[in-house]
Amino acid sequence: MFSSLSEKLQDVFKKLRGKGKLTEKDIKEAMKEVKLALLEADVNYKVVKDFINNVTQKAVGEEVLESLTPAQQVIKIVYDEMVNLLGGSDAKLTFSPSGFSIYMMVGLQGSGKTTTAGKLAGLLKKQGKNPLLVACDIYRPAAIKQLEVVAQKVGVKCYADYTSQDAVKIAKDGIEFAKSNRSDVVIIDTAGRLHINQELMDELKNIKNAVKPTEILLVVDAMTGQDAVNVAEAFNAQLGIDGIIMTKLDGDTRGGAALSVKAITGKPIKFAGVGEKMEDLEPFYPDRMASRILG
Ligand code: GDP
Repeated sequence: MFSSLSEKLQDVFKKLRGKGKLTEKDIKEAMKEVKLALLEADVNYKVVKDFINNVTQKAVGEEVLESLTPAQQVIKIVYDEMVNLLGGSDAKLTFSPSGFSIYMMVGLQGSGKTTTAGKLAGLLKKQGKNPLLVACDIYRPAAIKQLEVVAQKVGVKCYADYTSQDAVKIAKDGIEFAKSNRSDVVIIDTAGRLHINQELMDELKNIKNAVKPTEILLVVDAMTGQDAVNVAEAFNAQLGIDGIIMTKLDGDTRGGAALSVKAITGKPIKFAGVGEKMEDLEPFYPDRMASRILG
């Protein structure tokens, strides 16, 4: 994960450490290299610019230059800013105070939405909840079947209605079913499309208005880089999202999506998908991720 970015940043830091005392020029040169590494990792240009400005401003302060371990201090500043970029503190899933929570999973086709809905149900079940999955991707019978399969894998119930063409009705019926079956969490898998279009957004808005979800979780594929960030911006503008689940972070992704999405959309990454198996979903910890990147 992020291996190329990691290697490049570690090289920059190694050079800094080798210098002993640092001048302002040393820091500025190092920041140029950090900037290039971030851009090559497909981090949004404006995000990179702000990041470099913030770090440089802090790093050329007298305290750093006069200190006995200037390189360490610069690395610490980069680390802190990177934690910020990744979202700052951990963004947890919010549960409804009523004791009955509804999560709406949205995203483009292929992002990993259905798989992630199953993974999330499994994770919440392990935490002692009793989740129900609801299949609202009415356009693809295969998607309904897929949700039933993942539900079975994690040992939770799945509400499906192969005869209905009304996603809003299925969502509402699913919630009634959950209530009468003592479920306390409903996870609604919605339809995805290959591209964002108005029809998709309208349907999602209708479901949102009908069920008033506790949270809308957007699933995006980290491998798609800045496209993932654009998708997040569009979904947030049209629908309002509460958090992001970034999938395929186990792959050879460059890192740009994870490092840009909070700064661009203001919405935090709440979970990371790290594989195809049902247990491969982790809460997203900005500090641990920054440590991993910086080595
Ligand atoms: P949907 O169309 O958005 O519902 O996407 P799917 O849930 O069908 O997932 C699309 C593909 O991505 C499937 O082959 C999944 O196994 C795979 N996938 C989903 N999440 C992850 C992940 O975190 N890591 C990896 N490596 N693959 C994933």
